[in-house]
Amino acid sequence: MAEEEIIEEANITISSNVDIPPTYCPKCDALLPEGPGEKKCGSCSAKVNVKLPSLEHEWKNERIACPACSKVLVAGIGARPCKLKCSSCNQKFTLTKKIMKSEIACPGCERKLRVKRTPGEKLLKCPACEKEIKIKF
Ligand SMILES: [Zn+2]
Ligand SMILES: [Zn+2]
Ligand SMILES: [Zn+2]
Repeated sequence: MAEEEIIEEANITISSNVDIPPTYCPKCDALLPEGPGEKKCGSCSAKVNVKLPSLEHEWKNERIACPACSKVLVAGIGARPCKLKCSSCNQKFTLTKKIMKSEIACPGCERKLRVKRTPGEKLLKCPACEKEIKIKF
């Protein structure tokens, strides 16, 4: 197997701090894949064109510190992930979506667990009491 050539420079990734609101399928109310754009509902296969103008506005105006020189930059791009370049030191980096988590309480031991908010059903095991928990957002 041929080795893949690495074209991109060292990839510095920073996570965005803007909360992404959950969006739900207008037909079946299931959670859709997050963010704006054309989304396919995992439950009923409906295609939904999600518009989130205020999120795009917040993304565009998000301020982030350059990972190399700490200069505060304005993202200027209403999408995540996006590639940015520091205007002061030319450092390139990628700004990714914030990973949204929801807090749930284990039905067995009531311990609070933080779970990544993704569409579909998930089966988890509580790390404290090992009870299996079924989750659907
Ligand atoms: Zn649906
Ligand atoms: Zn910089
Ligand atoms: Zn538990």
